[in-house]
Amino acid sequence: MKKIILNNKIKFEIQRKNVKNINLRITKEKEIYVSANKYISEEKIINFVKSKEEWILKKFEEIESKRLILIEKRKYGTGENYKILGEDYFLKLILNAENKVIEKDNTVQLFLDDLDNMDLRKDLIEKWYEKKINNIFDKSLKKMLVKLYPYYKKTPLIDHKVFSNKWGVCMVNKNKIVLNTDLICISEECIDFVMLHELIHFIHPNHSKSFYSLLEKLMPDWKIKNEKLKQIIIKRL
Ligand SMILES: [Zn+2]
Repeated sequence: MKKIILNNKIKFEIQRKNVKNINLRITKEKEIYVSANKYISEEKIINFVKSKEEWILKKFEEIESKRLILIEKRKYGTGENYKILGEDYFLKLILNAENKVIEKDNTVQLFLDDLDNMDLRKDLIEKWYEKKINNIFDKSLKKMLVKLYPYYKKTPLIDHKVFSNKWGVCMVNKNKIVLNTDLICISEECIDFVMLHELIHFIHPNHSKSFYSLLEKLMPDWKIKNEKLKQIIIKRL
């Protein structure tokens, strides 16, 4: 296959196949594959890809945006975004006699008797968020403990923290797992994978062969989740 470089963003290979005209495909890794039948000239194929440049760049942007998680500096104001399990939740401040938080669809309604009270806004939202995080991690822990039950029966403590370089850590001596808080932005599947990975460390503390064989047995598709996590980029604004 011949590699054609249009510009520094668009590089592709032409595959000669028994297709009607020209087909263009973009993978999740932003690779472009072009297939065309043998009677179509290379020039015609290149022109076809050129004509699709705008569409290709838009696709690239879409792929990037799925990987990129932006975490804003919290101001606890209307319109603020919270990403939870891949879904966007938006904060809405509402003047009300009683102070409370009510989730409605993807809106987090923050009822306040004083909209300008920053401490109150912060307190209510942080409590709501913390509860959300704990529920999500707790649910995953229960699910993964069931998987692990034939091999391990103790329930560890779960804590969370923002780490810049890891998704989780297992403190075997303390019977504790600390998960990266940012995991809750991603997906239940990825949380389950990290949770199970850390739980298996109670049996196999190192990344030994036995560690991976148990992981493989309990979660045969763990590599897909691992790959997804590797691609995630978290940016704090
Ligand atoms: Zn590990």
